[in-house]
Amino acid sequence: MLPSDGHVHSEWSWDAFEGSMESTCRRAVALGLPSVAFTEHADFTAWTLGNTDQVPAQWRELVSGGVLVPPALDLDGYLACLEACRARHSELRILSGVELSEPHWHTARATALLGAGRFERVLASVHSAPTADGSGFTEVSARFGDQEPGEVLRGYLAETARLVAEFDAFEVLAHLDYPVRYWPKTGAPYDPLDFQEEYRHVLRGLAASGKVLELNTRVPLGRQVLEWWYEEGGRALAFGSDAHDPGGPGRGFRAAARTARAAGFRPGRDPWGFWCRG
Ligand SMILES: [Zn+2]
Ligand SMILES: [Zn+2]
Repeated sequence: MLPSDGHVHSEWSWDAFEGSMESTCRRAVALGLPSVAFTEHADFTAWTLGNTDQVPAQWRELVSGGVLVPPALDLDGYLACLEACRARHSELRILSGVELSEPHWHTARATALLGAGRFERVLASVHSAPTADGSGFTEVSARFGDQEPGEVLRGYLAETARLVAEFDAFEVLAHLDYPVRYWPKTGAPYDPLDFQEEYRHVLRGLAASGKVLELNTRVPLGRQVLEWWYEEGGRALAFGSDAHDPGGPGRGFRAAARTARAAGFRPGRDPWGFWCRG
């Protein structure tokens, strides 16, 4: 049996132009996924854009003075849609959820949303980095244009360590190696061993706080980092496709499950639960 997908987005995430909770549920049932968690974006950080010409039409109204302010999650609409999907797909366990972006920078807003949403799966992640001149923030991928790739990843991991140290109200740390998705095709290839101490520093803090590490399959988190998670005392592992369209749930999970087993993790007692250290 495939692991549960604990990280998918639907039309309730502002960047999921093709998102559909209903179609995603049907796809999850067809794949035989034990459960799926709709962890919609709660992005509180505004991004300073270098070039507003390339902003998708759907986002134009979010941009003012070269700054993009992500819209708030429509919590009532989201929860109503979730209930309707649960009623139609009783064979699938459907979890409510949220992906909090940089919650340690926005603790009041994050805490208020968690109180209102009472989500079953709370992910935390970093998507933002300071702009080169330090005057604002940008999506992490933009920093590859003005910074060495290794520095982008080191900055990302340092910020993620701060998130773990400063914010406690989450369960799963999402996509620890997020910048690797945007690693330049030219120049030195990405090698996790170059960042061992930085990775271990995050994983040590995460293990000490009793949290769960996500094996995100967009760019599958490799065996090396999973072995460090095991060695640093990590107890549990979540699987997440980070799908933004209905074709994406469970993508790459068979290979990811093999990697997780090789690193020492096993399915837990509940098919919809986390994997545990063996
Ligand atoms: Zn994310
Ligand atoms: Zn996501």
